[in-house]
Amino acid sequence: SEEKSLHFIEQIIEDSIATGFPQNKLRFRFPPEPNGYLHIGHAKSICLNFGLGLKYNAPVNLRFDDTNPAKEEQEYVDAIKEDLQWLGFKWAEERYASDYFQQLYDWAVDMIKKGKAYVDSQSSEEMAAQKGTPSQAGTNSPYRNRSIEENLALFEGMKKGDFKEGTHVLRAKIDMASSNMLMRDPLMYRILHRHHHRTANDWCIYPMYDFAHGESDYIEQISHSICTLEFVMHRELYDWFLDQIYDESTVRPHQYEFARLNLNYTVMSKRKLLQLVQDKVVNGWDDPRMPTISGLRRRGYTAAAIRKFCETIGVAKRENIINISLLDFCLREDLNKTAARVMAVLDPVKLTISNYPDGEVEWLDAENNQEDESAGFRKVPFSKTIWIEREDFLEEASAKFFRLTIGKEVRLKNAYLIKGESVIKDENGQIIEIIASYDADSKSGSGTEASKRKVSGTLHWVSAEHAIETEVRLYDRLFLDEAPDSHTEKSFLDFINPNSLQITKGYVEPSLKEVQPGDQFQFQRLGYFIVDKDTTASKIVFNKTVGLKDSWDE
Ligand code: ATP
Ligand code: MG
Ligand code: MG
Repeated sequence: SEEKSLHFIEQIIEDSIATGFPQNKLRFRFPPEPNGYLHIGHAKSICLNFGLGLKYNAPVNLRFDDTNPAKEEQEYVDAIKEDLQWLGFKWAEERYASDYFQQLYDWAVDMIKKGKAYVDSQSSEEMAAQKGTPSQAGTNSPYRNRSIEENLALFEGMKKGDFKEGTHVLRAKIDMASSNMLMRDPLMYRILHRHHHRTANDWCIYPMYDFAHGESDYIEQISHSICTLEFVMHRELYDWFLDQIYDESTVRPHQYEFARLNLNYTVMSKRKLLQLVQDKVVNGWDDPRMPTISGLRRRGYTAAAIRKFCETIGVAKRENIINISLLDFCLREDLNKTAARVMAVLDPVKLTISNYPDGEVEWLDAENNQEDESAGFRKVPFSKTIWIEREDFLEEASAKFFRLTIGKEVRLKNAYLIKGESVIKDENGQIIEIIASYDADSKSGSGTEASKRKVSGTLHWVSAEHAIETEVRLYDRLFLDEAPDSHTEKSFLDFINPNSLQITKGYVEPSLKEVQPGDQFQFQRLGYFIVDKDTTASKIVFNKTVGLKDSWDE
């Protein structure tokens, strides 16, 4: 990694160390709001912050930014922790912005005492009308010059629950003519008579993000507070709030912004993901079609592949859109090394080998992973009647059809050469059985001349009497549009792919009898599959993770 060039945040850190910032005071945080599950965009921020922690041997806090009781829940806190651990990262401390409510309140009182904050008793519409425009100064609130005593009394009343929602807010007293609209006396507190998932009914005023975030960074002595580019304009306010409390003997946090991850064929805002869940477009936050970490995990994306993806896209200051196929590329690279190869038939047609002895069963050797010698071999049963893939047979085929046809030889993987002889059809002309013959001398690995004979194709198969019947869930992209949430006339919900989930029956080899949820395999010639959590003692359920080749550009 020494050879890799530094990204701009690493460069900033190197520069500050070079100019005297003590490396042992570096401290980072990942600050999710527990209002939804983590998604692949969060993974970029996680890999960035925890990556810096590892690189500089510095602590990284997990801080729940839980200042909005209307949207936050314990379920989300638990899911976020599980996903972070699964991604392979360890936080130094688990913190909650809500733990700082008293400190934040005390600081707000100090600001009132210094004439830096005031209680405004206008409606939100009135305040909005006074905001002005970027080219035109705003108008001061008629409450802007309330006395300190009156402000203190009202703010205390707000805290005690004397007032209804929307009747008063606390505002920072900055500059209604600032060229930065966010500096025009921003809100610090609003009244919300809501139950909070951690502080219950202790509070009925809640701090706004801009006030809470920087001050929370200060409490935790975060040196580098990294966020996405939408917050560039907030930095001036972040610094202003810190100016009110900063003590020279402490670390002063700084905010740095990087480009968020955008992926095509995906929506990533938690609000939209929540809508997909609530509208039952998908089956929960961990539906394998969701871009959430839990959805990706259930689909079979590995933590290593997600980390590799984040490393590959890098950290920069310019927004771009990443092709989802890059994530699949990283995934295939990982699974190719780790997933055991097995045989499964998903669209079966029966094949009977006419000259194979009735009732005979041979247990043949099959290599588990040619990419990994240590993975070893297993036994697969072979018998007179097998299942093959319907699309692997054509009665009449051109010379370019490298699979089974009448009169042509192909190899059955790990087994024998067979030749198509005839077919049996039902009354609709659909093939219900293929009759083939085999060359008894051609067993794979037997060393005979026949075993080495070159044929045009190799097919996967399973022995019909030994195969396990399973449910297989095949997924396609959830959205038919590359940028489903970019349309002004239409909602992202208008671009849902009605065929994003197809459920089918598949036959798998008996070595899979004891699989557990989360086990991953390559079904030879078909793709990568993972055992789903819906698996029961009587039924194995597989999710298709990804095909063997990139089919996105087809
Ligand atoms: P959303 O808009 O999806 O609700 P958010 O930014 O409001 O996302 P938070 O829980 O506040 O969600 O995010 C926690 C951290 O993850 C923040 O530092 C945020 O900048 C970062 N983050 C969120 N989405 C992305 C993304 N697409 N790419 C990179 N970082 C992201
Ligand atoms: Mg946020
Ligand atoms: Mg959000």
